[in-house]
Order: sequence, then structure tokens, then C-alpha cells
Amino acid sequence: MTTPAVYASRSDQTRGRRYPEPSPRNRSEFQRDRDRIVHAGAFRRLEYKTQVFINHEGDLFRTRLTHSLEVAQIARVLARSLGLNEDLTEAIALAHDLGHTPFGHAGQDELNACMHELAPDAGGFEHNLQSLRVVDELEERYAPFNGLNLCFETREGILKHCSLAHALLLGDVGERFIARTQPSLEAQLANLADEIAYNNHDIDDGLRSGLLSVEQLQGVPAFARHYDQVIQEWPAIAQRRAVSETIRRMINTLIMDVTVTTASNLASAAPANAEAARLCGPLVAFSDEIRAEANVLKKFLFENLYRHYKVMRMTNKARRIVRELFSTFIQEPRLLPPDYRRDDDQAQARAIADYIAGMTDRYAIREHHRIFQMGDQL
Ligand code: MG
Repeated sequence: MTTPAVYASRSDQTRGRRYPEPSPRNRSEFQRDRDRIVHAGAFRRLEYKTQVFINHEGDLFRTRLTHSLEVAQIARVLARSLGLNEDLTEAIALAHDLGHTPFGHAGQDELNACMHELAPDAGGFEHNLQSLRVVDELEERYAPFNGLNLCFETREGILKHCSLAHALLLGDVGERFIARTQPSLEAQLANLADEIAYNNHDIDDGLRSGLLSVEQLQGVPAFARHYDQVIQEWPAIAQRRAVSETIRRMINTLIMDVTVTTASNLASAAPANAEAARLCGPLVAFSDEIRAEANVLKKFLFENLYRHYKVMRMTNKARRIVRELFSTFIQEPRLLPPDYRRDDDQAQARAIADYIAGMTDRYAIREHHRIFQMGDQL
């Protein structure tokens, strides 16, 4: 195991938890955070939430759970080779999508639109803030406190971005958005690992679903470069296997690039410790060439996959489900399960957002049926 670098976050120097607890005896503070995340109900629900494809469309596609595991795996490799805190990186990676609504970004955009239109004073909806809300408030598993009572460093890593208005309300984890400093190197790393994971698995799932073709991807340098080489080395290879080999090489290239670029950034900035690293600019990064290539790939996926008419049809249905659930509940809160009823209008809107955001894809579809279709179970 690589010895921890001086700028690695240290479990024994955590800024602590919101509710003080005795230190764990058989594991580090950040290991305890990771374990609490894995045991959370919201973590289990990630299995039935999607990124691009609806959960029941196919067993081979990524879900938010397998995505989170891929992010954690990439982040851990990077953390270990850079001498950063592997446990903290893993905890952040596993928790980073806990606040996602059903149906991917379409669900979150629609829920946010509903909040703004139908409950304008309640503060909108943002998945990143919701992830923090899940670990700070919504999980109800521990006798002494709401939430998982995670360490500051894990919570800070979960809150990737945040408006100034929200930052002012969030206390310690909001401060860096006001001071314009960076989160820990481990948080920066988990964030980049997320990008590496989704760009590559969206190509894989896009091809597997038939929404993208290898011919189209030949126009994307990051893919074509490796694919051509694979075909040259293995002329008789089946296309499906060539694609897997290509994606494997793409991920490897990105991981190696982040490692080399970040090591060089760290060598020149030479932060004396984890605190000093927060005051430098972003240090975990791709090289300029690879960043440019990754941006071309992102643009390709946006135009050809996320805006594919079949994906648009699915997101259109998803938006309708979220909107109809939200507007019905806000007009008639007595249709809500009692746990989600509140006396105050703003609190009621927030509780409805929490209820919908916590749903899996299939739960949201079923709930929509139960509310709008006669003859279905209540
Ligand atoms: Mg993600």
C-alpha cells in the first residue's frame, strides 16, 4: 500500500461529525462513513434508479447502484496511486448519487420545475443538495440523530456544487462556496471518477441498446483511436468484444492521464497538508488534450444519446409522471402516506419533493398507477 501523502485527508484529523460520537475502535472514521452509506436505505434504492435508461428496459444497463460502484472503483484506484485517502474517496463516491430522483436528470429537472411553479417559496430541488439532505436528515436508522451523521469531509465531498444562496444556509459545508476554495483532493478525485465512469458506460449502454452505432462513434477521436488499434491487433475479433476492449482502454487512458497530470500538479503546488491543498486551485485534473477529447465525447453523447428520440420519449413520460404526482399531492396532501404530511405549506412541498425523490423508477410508475388508474391496488 502506498504511504499516505502529506496532502491526503487524515481520518484522525477529521473536522468531525454534527453530533459528536466516540471514535470507532476497529476502523477509521471514513471507513465508518462508508459502511453507514452502504447500509442506508437510499443506497439500496439506487439499484432501481437509472441514469439514461429506465430500470426495467434491460438487465444489462447501468443503474445508479452499478454506476456508483464503478465510480468508487475508479476513485479508489486513483486515490491509492496518488497516496490520497482511499476510504474517504470511496465513501464520497458511493454516496454521490444518493439524492437522485427516479428517471435520471429528467426526473430532477421536472421536480425542480414543479417546486418553482407550484411552491415558489420552498426553494426548488437540486439532486446534489438532496444527496446531502439524505445523509444529513432523511435516513432514519440511528437512535440519537436523523441522517447518517457523517464526517465533515464526506459531507463536503457529496456537495459538489451549490448556489451562493444555498451555501449561506448550509453552515460548514457551504463555506467553501463563499470563500471560493476547493474541497479535499479526495472529493475532487471522486468527482472526476464520476465523469470517467458515466462517459464510458453511456457509450457501452448506448451501443448495447442500439441507440448508438460503432460507425457514429468512429467520429469521436477518444473512441476511434482505441477501436482502430483493437481491430488492427485483433482482426478477427467480434464487434461486441472489440467495443468492450475499446472502452477498457479508454477508461485506462483516462485513469493514467489523471494520475500523471494530478501528480505533476501536486508536485508543483506542493501543498504542505490537506488544508493547504484546499487553498490551491483544482489539482485533480485531466491534461489539456484529454480534457478536450473528453469534451468532444460529452458533446457527442448529448446530441446522439441523451437527445435520441427514443430517450426523449422516455424522458417525456418520466416528466409527466413526476409532474402529475407532484401537482396532485400538493393540491391534495391527504393522498400522501401520513409520514409525508406537514402542517406548513413550505414544509409540505419539501416533504412531497423528498417523497418523490426517494422513489425508484418502478415505485414512481406504480404510485402513478395507484393514484390515476381505477382498479389498481391502493
Ligand atoms: Mg454520478
